[in-house]
Amino acid sequence: TQARLAHAQRMEALGQLAGGIAHDFNNVLQATRSGAALIERRAGDPEVVRHLARMVAEAAERGTAITQRLLAFSRRGELRAEPLDPAGLLASMREILAHTLGAGVEVRTRVAAGLPPLLADKGQLETVLVNLATNARDAMDGAGTLTLAARTERRAEADSPGHPVGLQPGHYIRMAVTDTGCGMTPATLARASEPFFTTKGPGKGTGLGLAMARGFAEQSGGGLHIESAPGRGTTVTLWLPVAEGDARPAVGGGEAAMPAGG
Ligand code: ADP
Repeated sequence: TQARLAHAQRMEALGQLAGGIAHDFNNVLQATRSGAALIERRAGDPEVVRHLARMVAEAAERGTAITQRLLAFSRRGELRAEPLDPAGLLASMREILAHTLGAGVEVRTRVAAGLPPLLADKGQLETVLVNLATNARDAMDGAGTLTLAARTERRAEADSPGHPVGLQPGHYIRMAVTDTGCGMTPATLARASEPFFTTKGPGKGTGLGLAMARGFAEQSGGGLHIESAPGRGTTVTLWLPVAEGDARPAVGGGEAAMPAGG
């Protein structure tokens, strides 16, 4: 039956995910172990030891990132929402992405002046933006323009074209990631944010990037919408709630915990 087939596909995808994570994690452990072994052998040379210690620390950081990805997926990762300045966030993302996406990708920002703070988990939002940018780079085959944009939107009605289904009326920051890449066919677009849906082939895509981005936006009280056409590029837009009034923390304080949901 349909349900059994869907279950079988999900188990297959979970198996692939587990395989991918085992592979990534194994690489991290390998780097940690060989770094530690080298430190033992080169203990007499402080310069080399410092370098190796850094390498071990970086491997451990990658290991933490992998477990965080898993936790976020299993929804046990707690969202810690805090007021964030959209302009500052996108400026620092632009700098990070300009370094990581490769010389062929031009990274631009287009941010409306005087935006109010949004309310979201900073680390998760950054992870989502990096995932969206990585998809964009893949779609552009390493060359093109990536634009990070932000503006506000006050919504009066619940559903309208070009918006996430079920997005509640309210005051939002719209954050959009636009690429000049290959775009998606209607069939791909229809399934793009399903968990485990990928067109990238085994070992390359997990099919979790857009699913996690959507989950994050919805758990933050917003939503996600994708606009894409073959040959015309893709725009993924996140709606995130504006941090109203009291949500602005006093200096050094104020952090609102959000339910993990799911
Ligand atoms: P993954 O990147 O691991 O495949 P995602 O959930 O991030 O998983 O994306 C699912 C699919 O949606 C991709 O395999 C790809 O076909 C399509 N896709 C996502 N982002 C883009 C984009 N910016 N341009 C074109 N296609 C995209």
